[in-house]
Amino acid sequence: MHDLSALCVGALSTDSANRRRPVASVTVGRLVGLTGGIGSGKSTVAALLRAKGATVVDADEVARAVVEPGQPALEVLVARFGGGILDADGRLDRPKLAAIAFADDDGRKALGDITWPAIGEEFERRVKEAPDDAVVICDVPLLVESKAAAARPYVAVVVVEAPLEVRLDRLELRGVPRDDAQRRMAAQATDEERRAVATHVIDNGGDLESLSRQVDEVWEDLLTREAPIESPETSTPE
Ligand code: ATP
Repeated sequence: MHDLSALCVGALSTDSANRRRPVASVTVGRLVGLTGGIGSGKSTVAALLRAKGATVVDADEVARAVVEPGQPALEVLVARFGGGILDADGRLDRPKLAAIAFADDDGRKALGDITWPAIGEEFERRVKEAPDDAVVICDVPLLVESKAAAARPYVAVVVVEAPLEVRLDRLELRGVPRDDAQRRMAAQATDEERRAVATHVIDNGGDLESLSRQVDEVWEDLLTREAPIESPETSTPE
C-alpha cells in the first residue's frame, strides 16, 4: 500500500482496550469523532458540519502537513531514508518514500517512529487551538484502529456508512481503482467494529440531499451535548 497518510494515522493503532480513558492533553471544546471506511463520505460530512459552524481537525490533512518542506519530521525522514525521497522541488515524493520505507520491517518501523509522534502532536495542537465553545470534529479515518484516537473523550462518535458497491463506484469516479480500494478496505476495521463505538450512524447510501438532512439532525444533537469535565485523577498521558 503506497498511501502514506493512511499508514501514518493507522499506524498509531495497537488496540482499543483503553479507548474510554480521558486524555490529559485534550481539555477544550466538545470533541466529536468522525469516522468511516474509505469512500464512505467522511470528508463530505465534515464539510457539511464545517458549514454549520464546527471546527474540523482532519487527520489525513495533519499527516500531510507534518511532512511539508521545513517541517522537522521531513528532515528526519531525509536523514533516515536519503534525499531520494524528495522530488525536484524538495517536497516529499510519497511513492519514492513508500518504495524505500516499505521494503523491509526496519524501514516500515522507522517511518512510523518518525511520523506518528509528529502527527499526534500536531493533531492535539490543532484540537487545543479550537475555541472553548467549539464543536470540534476529529475526522479520523482510522479512529477505531488507533489507540490514541480512540482514547479521546468524545461527546459523540459519528460513523458514516455506505454500501460497498456505492463506495467503490464513488471512489472509482475519483480515480481510485476498485482493486486498490478493496485492498485498503480489507486492511481497515469493519462496519460492525465502527458501529460498536458509534453514537450516530449516518447512512450515505443515498443522494447528497439525504446526507445533508441527516447531518442537520446530527448537528442539532451535537449542540445539546456538554463537554465532559475532566478529572485529573483519571487522566492519562498520551
Ligand atoms: P476517503 O476515505 O477516501 O477520504 P471519504 O470517506 O472522505 O473518502 P468522501 O471523499 O467524502 O469520502 O466521498 C467519496 C466520494 O464520493 C467523493 O468524490 C464525494 O464527492 C462522493 N460522495 C460522497 N457522498 C456522496 C453522495 N451522497 N452522493 C454522491 N456522491 C457522494
